[in-house]
Amino acid sequence: MPPAAREHLLTNATADRYLRTVTDGAARVAARIAGADRPFTGIAPEHLALEVATVDLDRPLGDAAAALDELNDVYLRDAVYFHHPRYLAHLNCPVVIPALLGETVLAAVNSSLDTWDQSAGGTLIEQRLIDWTARRAGLGPLADGVFTSGGSQSNLQALLLAREEALAASGPPRAETLPRLRVLASAAGHFSVQKSAKLLGLAPDAVVTVEVDADRRMRPAALDRAFERCRRDGLTVMAVVATAGTTDFGSIDPLPEIARRCAAAGAWLHVDAAYGCGLLVSRTRRHLLDGIERADSVTVDYHKSFFQPVSSSALLVRDGRALRHATYHADYLNPERTVAERIPNQVNKSLQTTRRFDALKLWMTLRVMGADAIGELFDDVVDRAAAAWSLLSEDPRFEVVTRSQLSTVVFRYLPTGPGRAYADEANLHARAALAASGDAVVAGTTVDGRHFLKFTLLNPETTIDDIAAVVELVAEHADRYVERAIGPIPACTAS
Ligand SMILES: *Cc1c(COP(=O)(O)O)cnc(C)c1O
Repeated sequence: MPPAAREHLLTNATADRYLRTVTDGAARVAARIAGADRPFTGIAPEHLALEVATVDLDRPLGDAAAALDELNDVYLRDAVYFHHPRYLAHLNCPVVIPALLGETVLAAVNSSLDTWDQSAGGTLIEQRLIDWTARRAGLGPLADGVFTSGGSQSNLQALLLAREEALAASGPPRAETLPRLRVLASAAGHFSVQKSAKLLGLAPDAVVTVEVDADRRMRPAALDRAFERCRRDGLTVMAVVATAGTTDFGSIDPLPEIARRCAAAGAWLHVDAAYGCGLLVSRTRRHLLDGIERADSVTVDYHKSFFQPVSSSALLVRDGRALRHATYHADYLNPERTVAERIPNQVNKSLQTTRRFDALKLWMTLRVMGADAIGELFDDVVDRAAAAWSLLSEDPRFEVVTRSQLSTVVFRYLPTGPGRAYADEANLHARAALAASGDAVVAGTTVDGRHFLKFTLLNPETTIDDIAAVVELVAEHADRYVERAIGPIPACTAS
């Protein structure tokens, strides 16, 4: 055995220890996952904070079993479990086992995908997966891209490329053009578009909101008007962000109509398919992404609708040459001569330097299960959301917003009679009470200033019975709130 500190390093001398330790840890997690009877224990942050605060980080426990025991108290016991069928809140998916196998391999080998000399086959595997995804999207022979940490980073990089292309097209001086650049996006788009605009040094009002229709899809006529206003005001539209699967409503902007307008105006089209990318592997719904093949750039989050562990995401571009805007050469890493030597250094395409081999998870998934199986899982949850929508829209106690093209349902409980005035508070209360009980976890959002609840279905194991049961719990918690606010509700009050 090597001396004390070194026995914890994974080396040829400790490979056995590695295997035992990781197997023991995996066994504990497996037991937790198998035994979880609720998605959450409902623990309050102040209680858990106490547990975490009492750990003395300067007094190590010395062995993994003891650390795992402690981890149970500070994390595993009270974690939020996305595999539980009554976790219905955010865009978190249960994960597929082949991807976890990939995670185990990539963590131990610890390749870094910035340069060939730190990754070798890892780089080639990532490139194959980028090509595979770009082909599914139909982006054409020049397409390229890179894995990123998530949809937010993919959107940021897409807008960086769009900004640089717009600045190059308008010519110097940059300082004069920069504040006149605009990004058109729908009101239902993701907030990372605003954050990106800020990071990219655009004007505070650079993101122009384009109206949506009743189904929360961008209105092409409103996009025309936004283009026209920019033209009139001497502003340059550097990009249109179309969303293929909005976070709240699962709505897909009309991609062909938007693409046509971008082509006419010479504007960069970015399609944010962080959520909707699962349709790329659906055998029944791929057509919902028609038009994506005309995008200049596309965001895909495999960690949402491909059932991959966080992080697993990519930015794709129709013309790989655009990635040069993220290229810098450092003598210590990727000197200029490596380009002539045709050394594949992915750092030339990325905002990150040291970068996880996240692509391996998708690779193992495709090699074990295949794309159709992933598409089936996603189709299942989209079907279930349609059933949940029917259930809620036929129930007079509820108001449902719009029928999602993907797997969300936005709804609210409507108390009857004078209780109606408390609808906002009652729904807020129902969500908090559900989470505190741990019986189910649902999300919340606002629509036209009013509080709504949201199911995001990404677990094929969630049945319509689970959904019906959670709906009843929402009604009970909301009624209890109203009763406390105004007294008991007579059984048949007209609404
Ligand atoms: C989730 C989401 C993002 C952000 O992705 P992250 O992986 O959370 O950074 C961007 N756009 C849309 C539409 C999303 O749903």
